[in-house]
Amino acid sequence: SMSADAYRRRHEITVSGGDVPAPFTSFEVAGFPSEILREVHNAGFPSPTPIQAQSWPITLQGRDIVAVAKTGSGKTLGYLIPGFIHLKNSRNDPRMGPTVLVLAPTRELATQIRDEAVKFGRSSRISCTCLYGGAPKGPQLRDLDRGVDVVVATPGRLNDILEMRRINLHQVSYLVLDEADRMLDMGFEPQIRKIVREVPARRQTLMFTATWPKEVRKIAADLLVKPIQVNIGNVD
Ligand code: ADP
Ligand code: MG
Repeated sequence: SMSADAYRRRHEITVSGGDVPAPFTSFEVAGFPSEILREVHNAGFPSPTPIQAQSWPITLQGRDIVAVAKTGSGKTLGYLIPGFIHLKNSRNDPRMGPTVLVLAPTRELATQIRDEAVKFGRSSRISCTCLYGGAPKGPQLRDLDRGVDVVVATPGRLNDILEMRRINLHQVSYLVLDEADRMLDMGFEPQIRKIVREVPARRQTLMFTATWPKEVRKIAADLLVKPIQVNIGNVD
């Protein structure tokens, strides 16, 4: 099998921030639970994408991570699969609030992430709902009242629901900021910071972004603890 360095060179992976575990060059070496492996095989995926291969072992160690990779590189399962495993270990009661929280910039992206979570989490019996603006709050609140493991939300709508005190984030221990650069471009920084204040400090935080400008670096420095950074390709 290829060495970690050879795999990283071949796939233009650069890493920084500490002792970085070797990439999972195949699904088999990842050691995922069988119900997750089954879903991955059902999807017909031949092997992990580079961002998945390098981020999974880091995230599964419980480390915070910044992953910089362009659109279409498979980032969603990059954070969802370790999130499912985190959930399984947490043994939280979903009626007390979600354990996994994913923030995403738009309704379209949030629903895509929810669809992926439902598809790949089904055999692990993971429940998931999506909170976004431009739609009635009623059905979203009903899902929350029933209890869900995973919430995927746009910052605006989640903040509204928080202000109504209809969601409790005190069980969240796995927080994902997806498309962080776009969320900041859209002016969501104040809402993100308010939401994060409701999440316990003792958590794992993951940030995914296509670009790495100073605004994103600043919020990463504030919200993540000693992250490992993984870049795929050239990062601007
Ligand atoms: P990103 O968030 O980086 O833009 P996505 O997570 O949306 O990328 O993934 C892009 C597409 O690749 C999706 O259709 C997804 O199902 C698919 N995909 C994810 N992982 C793999 C893989 N290991 N092999 C092949 N396709 C994959
Ligand atoms: Mg994405």
